[in-house]
Amino acid sequence: MSSISVIGSGFAGLSAASVLAAKGNSVTVFEKNIEIGGRARTFGAQGFSYDMGPSWYWMPDVFERFYNLFGRTTEDFYELKKLDPGFQVIFGNDDTVKIPADFDELCDLFESIEKGSGNQLRKFIKIAEIKYNTGINDLVYQPGHSFKEFLSFGLLKDAFSLQIFSSFSKHVRQFFTNPQLISIIEFPVLFLGAMPKDTPALYSLMNYAGLKQGTFYPMGGFGKVIEAFKTIADELGVEFKANENVEKLEISANKVSHLISNGQSFNTDAVIASADYHHVESKLLPKEFRNYNESYWDKRTFAPSSLIYYLGIDKKVPKLEHHNLFFDADLDIHSAEIYKNIKWPTDPLFYVCCPSKTDHTVVPEGSENLFLLMPIAPGLNDTEELREQYFKVMMDRIYKYTGENFSENIVYKRSYCVSNFIEDYNAYKGNAYGLANTLFQTAIFKPKLKSKKIKNLFFSGQLTVPGPGVPPSIISGQVAATELMKYLKN
Ligand SMILES: Cc1cc2nc3c(=O)[nH]c(=O)nc-3n(C[C@H](O)[C@H](O)[C@H](O)COP(=O)(O)OP(=O)(O)OC[C@H]3O[C@@H](n4cnc5c(N)ncnc54)[C@H](O)[C@@H]3O)c2cc1C
Repeated sequence: MSSISVIGSGFAGLSAASVLAAKGNSVTVFEKNIEIGGRARTFGAQGFSYDMGPSWYWMPDVFERFYNLFGRTTEDFYELKKLDPGFQVIFGNDDTVKIPADFDELCDLFESIEKGSGNQLRKFIKIAEIKYNTGINDLVYQPGHSFKEFLSFGLLKDAFSLQIFSSFSKHVRQFFTNPQLISIIEFPVLFLGAMPKDTPALYSLMNYAGLKQGTFYPMGGFGKVIEAFKTIADELGVEFKANENVEKLEISANKVSHLISNGQSFNTDAVIASADYHHVESKLLPKEFRNYNESYWDKRTFAPSSLIYYLGIDKKVPKLEHHNLFFDADLDIHSAEIYKNIKWPTDPLFYVCCPSKTDHTVVPEGSENLFLLMPIAPGLNDTEELREQYFKVMMDRIYKYTGENFSENIVYKRSYCVSNFIEDYNAYKGNAYGLANTLFQTAIFKPKLKSKKIKNLFFSGQLTVPGPGVPPSIISGQVAATELMKYLKN
């Protein structure tokens, strides 16, 4: 039995830990925070329960496949509700598009906005479905070591049909011309990734997930999903050491021999580092053992950071749905300010989640739970004044849209931004979702899952393959664990 250390208890770390423990290894998870769950932690205040990070439950099959590995199923842990509408996009106070859960209804809705686009959507999603099936069943489970993987799985020919080498924005414009429809299609890659023109068309697989499979909600909140992952790990005997900040990896004969945490030394046979990749390399490893130098990281395109507000409102707010995208500003200008002309946005787009529309357990009776998220460039100077300034901007737009000013009803308010991401997660430049999904940061071009210099060190999580988001992080943990087990067998 090997003794394996996992650094970080986010989805990637939890997933890796269970896969390794199920194969008979002795696994210990070291987590710097008191709570388990990483960016998907929860907190409670004044009767409100908040999911700190993820709120969009897409690709339910990835979660289900993970549970099935352990003879379990989603329903063993939580009720999964399909949202209808899945989400709404607010283009103006009287100009809102609600995305129905039923795909035929969605095609009719597209048709009503742009003639011919109903059929175009069917065609677009059919291609997206093929990408999803190949991408999610094969491609994302590859460790991303080299091109050989593509050859051996016959994926190279698919690489062209999967549109890895063509641009997302071009692809979308071959199907739709209406700017609202284009925004609806482009928002997932923009929020989780990069400028659509820099994103491979492969990622339309996310549209299959969001528009055809649908948007789901785990009743009780995303915290229930973390609880499920923790339960599986507990049942398999994984040991959790919370409030343990790993400070150093000691190397002997090109292997990690010990892990130093809170000043104590722990023996280890192998390590999965699921904390932010840059942090692990630059803070825990001596220079000569790093895969990448500072200039490598500086040249990467990071997915956005975020300004977040968690609010408790002691009244109901009609007009809001569970997921609300405020796209009543110029998408191109805001995205350029995230990725190119980096600065705090001139006129931001933002997202409001209101889980209390679906789930009364997350609020005191008669109240509303709001989560405001404004994407911003990572590394921005983050001050209390700037946070407040943008809080007012977002709230004014919400008041305008909902038709009422409920500022007197805010009974709980907490902000979260770049400096919190750095402090809480050791996040490079305070990134929220890791690396952007650009062509040269996809698959084999991602930071490598295996250390090139230390035989028993593997990386997982949103900064390596397959990328940002909860489903990819779950897969990343599985792939890293599989690679580590191959190493143990040799
Ligand atoms: C605000 C926000 C909203 C999001 N929304 C969505 C969404 O709606 N849907 C979706 O699918 N995805 C969403 N995501 C992305 C998704 O949450 C992440 O991609 C995923 O949770 C990352 O998991 P991870 O395990 O890679 O990293 P993390 O969750 O960050 O886990 C890494 C862990 O390592 C710990 N750690 C760091 N340094 C050390 C150290 N030295 N010692 C010990 N532990 C350490 C950290 O504390 C952390 O717990 C969102 C993310 C954020 C931040």
